[in-house]
Amino acid sequence: MTGEYRKPLPRVTSDNRPFWEATKRHELRLQRCGACGRFRYPPAPVCPDCLSEDAEWTPVSGRGTVTTFIVMHKVYFQSFAGDVPYNVVQVELEEGPRLTANLVDVPNEGMTVGMPVEVVFDDVTPEITLPRFRRTS
Ligand SMILES: [Zn+2]
Repeated sequence: MTGEYRKPLPRVTSDNRPFWEATKRHELRLQRCGACGRFRYPPAPVCPDCLSEDAEWTPVSGRGTVTTFIVMHKVYFQSFAGDVPYNVVQVELEEGPRLTANLVDVPNEGMTVGMPVEVVFDDVTPEITLPRFRRTS
């Protein structure tokens, strides 16, 4: 990366801080309910299934499949002007939760629902590392 990163950045909160601390270490961790074992995302103080407050930030595989995607052609943010057309994908992780991110190293016309992918980490600022995904064979 060259120059200052000008795109929107995630807002780090007390609920999601462990997620962003993990990505900074190039690890993907999600909350796993200590009562029922369900993985959840986005981060939340209670389990949406059993309402337990007991959870542990647990490493996950980083593997999943593309469940849907779009290609952005319009410049909604000036900082993305050089990127259009760019993709936004939803990836369902093997552990269940779905993340919204970008697919890298795949041309927009080559994206398909069901494509197997794995997480990669993009250090966009000294504080923030964004998870993105690439195709696996
Ligand atoms: Zn639970």
